[in-house]
Amino acid sequence: MPEEDGDARLPQEFVELAAELDEQDTLAAYRSEFVLPEGVLAYLDGNSLGRPLKVTGGRLARFVDGEWGERLIRAWDERWLELPTVVGDLIGRAVLGAAPGQTVVGDSTTVMLYKLIRAAVDARPRRTEIVADTENFPTDRFVLAAVAAETGRTIRWIEPDPATGVQPAEVAALLGDRTALVVLSHVAYKSAYIADLPAITSAAHRAGALVLWDLCHSAGVVEVALDDSDVDLAVGCSYKFLNGGPGAPAYGYVARRLHDELRQPIAGWMGHAEPFAMGPDYVPATGIRRFLSGTPPILAMIPVEDMLAVIQRAGMPAVREKSVRLTDYAIAVADEVLAPLGVVVASPRDADRRAGHVTVEHDAMKTVVGELWRRGVIPDFRPARGLRIGLSPLSTSFGELATALAHVEQILAGQAG
Ligand SMILES: *Cc1c(COP(=O)(O)O)cnc(C)c1O
Repeated sequence: MPEEDGDARLPQEFVELAAELDEQDTLAAYRSEFVLPEGVLAYLDGNSLGRPLKVTGGRLARFVDGEWGERLIRAWDERWLELPTVVGDLIGRAVLGAAPGQTVVGDSTTVMLYKLIRAAVDARPRRTEIVADTENFPTDRFVLAAVAAETGRTIRWIEPDPATGVQPAEVAALLGDRTALVVLSHVAYKSAYIADLPAITSAAHRAGALVLWDLCHSAGVVEVALDDSDVDLAVGCSYKFLNGGPGAPAYGYVARRLHDELRQPIAGWMGHAEPFAMGPDYVPATGIRRFLSGTPPILAMIPVEDMLAVIQRAGMPAVREKSVRLTDYAIAVADEVLAPLGVVVASPRDADRRAGHVTVEHDAMKTVVGELWRRGVIPDFRPARGLRIGLSPLSTSFGELATALAHVEQILAGQAG
């Protein structure tokens, strides 16, 4: 078996198609800007932890010697205190469609979700219900349940078809004058289904409710237009398609029109109107800074800045276009090569409703993924039987994807035989 590892190859037409797509790929050169160790044959999990950029290593080292090592505490005044909103504005411009002054960086996704969900619910004191869905990522559901318990609210759960995602009609059916808040993921973390963000947002507004979108699996791979869609609140993480590295902070977006009205629950000194006045009482800052709590994770924002610069050079429309080609290719191979081995595509076939990953299912996937990892082919396993093929457009080539899928075929064929 091990001697077969190296020569896994898809049928000739798909090898040629991958070569052609790489040839035509206007973003192909970006791949070489990432750290690409030889032991990794194919990386298909950039939607869980993006690869690091080569420049980041140098910038982190210079940061230790310069900004931290030499400027020391002076750097707080010189740059660091403003970094949560400076990087927030960069994220807003590069990937969220958000004008400056509405996005802030800090905390983890989980904590930022808690802060903004709690702030939103508190801003609608007479409304008793939150609308959410059972297919959302665990942390989103857990935080929602905790806020509901803490504030005496009821969650109206939508149970969407796991293969697709939440439909506007399913949301509309639960909206009413009791709805305080709707919380959904823009892109489903399992299927990659893209929810109809503009339609759901305006339906919620017609009912007088606020909306919070989780953008973890959309920002940096799917175009988002928060301002144009009149979104109230959004949260996302910076270590997936924004390549911020393990534990990189979250970002929170709050529409400017809500800044004065909303008050978040973790009143800390960094969100205070005058952090260094050291006064007796908490007075929230004006604007987006009031959503900060404690000392921001400065080190962890450096890689995010690097990736945002790359995304801005490439442009989100081009990133999305390549993303669609990558997922189209994965689905074509799944249909032609893997389906005869019992593999089923569990992501939307309509490219307009499909984001940056493709989930395929098979009863043997857990063992298949174990063997793939051993070979240096790294996708994600999602219980019970899902192989999640995450495709970061700026760091993934079609050839890399073809190699990975060839190994999936070889392992499944070997098991069948
Ligand atoms: C990745 C992800 C998270 C992660 O939350 P952390 O607090 O950063 O661990 C939350 N929600 C969704 C939808 C995600 O995809």
